[in-house]
Amino acid sequence: MKKFANYIDGKLVPSTSKDYLDNYNPATGEVYSLLPDSCQEDVEEAVAAAKGAFPKWSGLSPEDRSQYLIKIAEAVEQSQAELALAETTDTGKPLWLSNAMDIPRAAANFRFFGHAITQFASESHLVDGVALNYTRRGPLGVVGCISPWNLPLYLFTWKVAPALAAGNTVVAKPSELTPHTASLLSEICIKAGLPPGVLNIVHGAGGKVGQSIVQHHEVKAVSFTGGTATGRKVALTAAETFKRTSLELGGKNPTIIFEDCDFDLAVESAVRSSFTNQGEICLCGSRIYVEEGIYEKFLGEFVKQVDALKVGDPLDGDVKVGALVSQHHQQKVLQYVALAKQEGGHILCGGDRQVVVGRCERGYFVQPTVIADLPNSCRTNQEEIFGPVVTVQSFKGADQAISLGNESSYGLAANIWTSDLKMAHNVSHKLHFGIVWVNTWLLRDLRTPFGGMKNSGLGREGGFESLRFFTEAQNICIKL
Ligand code: NAD
Repeated sequence: MKKFANYIDGKLVPSTSKDYLDNYNPATGEVYSLLPDSCQEDVEEAVAAAKGAFPKWSGLSPEDRSQYLIKIAEAVEQSQAELALAETTDTGKPLWLSNAMDIPRAAANFRFFGHAITQFASESHLVDGVALNYTRRGPLGVVGCISPWNLPLYLFTWKVAPALAAGNTVVAKPSELTPHTASLLSEICIKAGLPPGVLNIVHGAGGKVGQSIVQHHEVKAVSFTGGTATGRKVALTAAETFKRTSLELGGKNPTIIFEDCDFDLAVESAVRSSFTNQGEICLCGSRIYVEEGIYEKFLGEFVKQVDALKVGDPLDGDVKVGALVSQHHQQKVLQYVALAKQEGGHILCGGDRQVVVGRCERGYFVQPTVIADLPNSCRTNQEEIFGPVVTVQSFKGADQAISLGNESSYGLAANIWTSDLKMAHNVSHKLHFGIVWVNTWLLRDLRTPFGGMKNSGLGREGGFESLRFFTEAQNICIKL
């Protein structure tokens, strides 16, 4: 069986414990590979390697670092087929989606930050005749990057690329549920000639490897994406060493559809925003609010289209919804459907495990599920489910839409559908979400600030925000 390795000081190595964890293909329910069950000693070695590589890497010009990143971007593009298949095998997502979204985006992250670092400038503040202040931004040193399983290589590279571009050296940990593409990235970095120790990848459990990275006194900053409860632990641990943190956490995102919207487009997009990647994207809409005049019409068309989504083998090109990432997660999602019923919800479609015959008969599939008639305050409408489950409610007027949307402890992303531009601005400004999409969903521009409010996180990533996070500002004041 294939065994993945850690990538430390430029070499592929087993964990010091020599122990391994099982890695499942969630579409078949089979263990298909093993990943190192790493421990604190492995993190120590990775941090030492990163520390050793820092002076030389940080001393390179931005143009030279940029060249390495662009080379890695090209290598990711050349390995697209292998990486996409690995991503699908680890996550259960449709192969066409890995090909269309995950892997191109991972390459784009390296390319984007490879270019961004050559355009990164700092401020100066001049008081004529008195003093000139200028801000110098330098890398932090060794930094940690910890990422989740839902968009494995896409989110891993979203952190690693800006950290390296800014001149830091990195100790990174992918999710233990999806180690495959990060493992292939190690091989890509070796082939691309990335100097040893600049990027180190340590596989294993969050409580051991992740915790050791966050605790380590030599790690100056941690960029973390994952669940809110884990984010809280990371913040508490990081506080001990006054570590800088960027926390991209969970969401419970509203999709608000006004009567004056482009109806067909709104329905089609609501299907996409609810069920793309099995609903396992932090930006998926999971609470749909529809203005009362079109509520019944929306329900009819929406449920018809959701019912038509093909669930099944992720390798099948027609499949729109693949397997959930693990049996544990499948059970969690189904428990929420049971809870919704107890809370008085009506299941309009789905609501059960999906049995797929053949190769995937033991896979972790859940039918796309639509639930109506629940109060906004119930647990189903307040807690993150992170699967192919949406609730639908009606509203009357913009004020009610805003208050229903904001009634949440999360604040990651909101989605509005209307043809009234003035209202779109007004509603957007009153919604407490880090990202608001109007008449579109998941349209990303890598230069924009990305992140959540409230329990959805702390800090912003993207463009120069990421480069600012990964650098320390120093003010130099010169008396004129
Ligand atoms: P998770 O919190 O369980 O794990 C995330 C990562 O943290 C994994 O690599 C894990 O091993 C590691 N980890 C676990 N315990 C740790 C600890 N004590 N210290 C340090 N690291 C630790 O999250 P998940 O289940 O992998 O991902 C799903 C969650 O991620 C959802 O809540 C989703 O909304 C969120 N998410 C957020 C964004 C965003 O941009 N805001 C993007 C994707 C996913």
